[in-house]
Order: sequence, then structure tokens, then C-alpha cells
Amino acid sequence: MSALNGRCLCGAVEFEATPTGQEMGVCHCSMCRRWSGGAWFGVDCGNSVKVADEGQLGVYKSSDWGERCFCKSCGSTLFWRLQSGAHHVVSVQTFDDAGQFMFANEIYTDEQPRNYAFSNATKRMTGAEFLAAFMASSGSSGNG
Ligand SMILES: [Zn+2]
Ligand SMILES: [Zn+2]
Repeated sequence: MSALNGRCLCGAVEFEATPTGQEMGVCHCSMCRRWSGGAWFGVDCGNSVKVADEGQLGVYKSSDWGERCFCKSCGSTLFWRLQSGAHHVVSVQTFDDAGQFMFANEIYTDEQPRNYAFSNATKRMTGAEFLAAFMASSGSSGNG
């Protein structure tokens, strides 16, 4: 895919990102739900994310390896990344055309609240299954 422009609600944080594919996924884990205030949909963007003004970007280290980035002014949930910067998962709603991505997978299904379910035909993985697959593909620990 080509590079896309993403931004927060107020526009203080603008960035460029190149998705590694046309699929998006939802993470049902308790951290993502609390962080985003909803079901969080993300798109893998590898190491391609370039933020125009890093000074506007809030960074919260949520584990020993991951951190969650948001707008300091409006609080928008922007992306999760490895602290090394080697991998980013960007909030799909930061892009103008969020509908261009196919809803392909759901992870941390073991932490999904019992009061909702998506009818899309997705690949579902528990947290343990996702971590095993992520570590096999990237050589590092995922999520958190
Ligand atoms: Zn903002
Ligand atoms: Zn999560």
C-alpha cells in the first residue's frame, strides 16, 4: 500500500504511515479497551510511522516492551508501538478512509467482554495464541 495520512481529533498530531497490508484487526484485551474507551481497531504499519511534531505526542509505556501514543491536546488514541520503534499498530480511525481495510482478525478473544460480538468472519486468537504467532514473526514480545 502507499503512505496514508493520519491525524488526531484536534489536528495537533499528524503523521504518515504505510500499512503492511489491507487488513485490520480488533484487540479485545483489557488494556486496549481501557486505553481506547471501546473496541480498538488497528492496522499494522511496521516501522513506517513518521510524526510531524513529536512534541505533541504523548507516550505511555504500558509494558516492558510496548508503549501507547496519544495526542497531548485532545487525547485521541493514535497507535501502539514497540519501544524500539520497530513495529507500530495504528488506530484505523485516524485515517480518512477507515473503510478501505478488511476486518480480518480478532485477538485476545479470551479477554473479550461477554456483552458484544462482531458478526464479521474473522480469524480469532486468544492472547496466548496471538503472542506465539507475533513472537514467531517479529522475534519480540507483542502487545502490552
Ligand atoms: Zn489532538
Ligand atoms: Zn490489546
